[in-house]
Amino acid sequence: MKAWKLALGDGVSTIFGLLGPLRRHPGCRVLMYHALGAEVPGDRQAQYSMAAERFRQHMHCLEGTQGRQVLGLGDGVKVGSGVVITFDDGYRDTLTVAAPLLADLAFPFTVFVTPGFTRSGDSRYLSAPELRELAKVPGASIGAHGNSHCRLTECDDAHLDRELRESRAWLEDVLGRAVTTMSYPHGAVDGRVRAAAAATGYEFAACSRFGAQASDGDPLLIARTDIWAQDDSARLLAKTAGAWDWMGWRA
Ligand SMILES: [Zn+2]
Repeated sequence: MKAWKLALGDGVSTIFGLLGPLRRHPGCRVLMYHALGAEVPGDRQAQYSMAAERFRQHMHCLEGTQGRQVLGLGDGVKVGSGVVITFDDGYRDTLTVAAPLLADLAFPFTVFVTPGFTRSGDSRYLSAPELRELAKVPGASIGAHGNSHCRLTECDDAHLDRELRESRAWLEDVLGRAVTTMSYPHGAVDGRVRAAAAATGYEFAACSRFGAQASDGDPLLIARTDIWAQDDSARLLAKTAGAWDWMGWRA
């Protein structure tokens, strides 16, 4: 995002933040990170690869936030409170940078992996052995993120079914454990895609709609808050408090 847009967003969010006590909805806040250093394809505004040091600051900031506990995805969504940490795409730096820090802080986290990226051999992404290593980290859980990272809303029914089923089957085969969570690549989801995710057996599926996830919200349309490389700790706290929820759907 361009600097002037971020500044404008900060201004709008300050107003929403001030209105917060009047309009705040309770719920779980699911944060969406991507890479921590690796170059993200198509990321023209350099929003999705955060410096490791900034990520460290974010986590220490969450550690110091009173009253918001960091929970695993399923727990947070079920109880409708706390903060949940997620990563999309399966970058190798979730293992090398995020996992040691999160394990130290005893923060659970979920990594949504695209098997097509893993199988590509591109060293930015987790390999299959690294994926197994990541799954052993205390608090780590692995979910699917499509098979090829295409927009599921643009797939015909047969292709959609393959994307949902093959990603899950491949991850279960590599990890030797059940995979029941996913996030929609590009945040692209509609009623048909949601129904297909349910039919494939996913219990939790995250999208890219800014907002808090209430305990009675749809577990297959989990709201998430997009976190950007440019977000300092103040903006992280503003986003966590809901001041950026005016952004709505991102897809
Ligand atoms: Zn993605």
